[in-house]
Amino acid sequence: MRVGIGYDIHRLMEGKPLILGGVEIPYIKGLVGYSDADVLIHAVSDAILGAASLGDIGMHFPDSEPRYKGVSSASLLREVNDLIRRKRYRVNNVDVVVIAEEPKISAFRANMKKKISDILRIDESRISIKATTNEGVGSIGRGEAIASYAVATLEEIKR
Ligand code: ZN
Repeated sequence: MRVGIGYDIHRLMEGKPLILGGVEIPYIKGLVGYSDADVLIHAVSDAILGAASLGDIGMHFPDSEPRYKGVSSASLLREVNDLIRRKRYRVNNVDVVVIAEEPKISAFRANMKKKISDILRIDESRISIKATTNEGVGSIGRGEAIASYAVATLEEIKR
């Protein structure tokens, strides 16, 4: 069993689409980044790569490469999953915390879990997504950014 941790934060800006966990959430602001800025998927990807000691997403998908501009982070997570599968690992479970003052994401949690379990090819019961606010404190509390933490465990695929 191997354990990895991931953390990410992106700024919110008006007029951008908000994509979290591969799901578009209706909101007046969205996250800014080179890809679709899906902070939840980025944290999950880094946790999985970390558990396999395979670096991080910035290393695998550098923003110096034009092909990653505006790319769907779900497709990057799929590539991460393919990478660890080739190393004979599979994700055992993922636990995620999203820290956002707004919007409420609970109504979208089931869709996010479905999306991520499809990408990782594991059961939805192995994915946990939790959300909390920052109690009005700091940049996240002022609605300027959304952050996410993720922990992933991997298990070896037996021959
Ligand atoms: Zn990111």
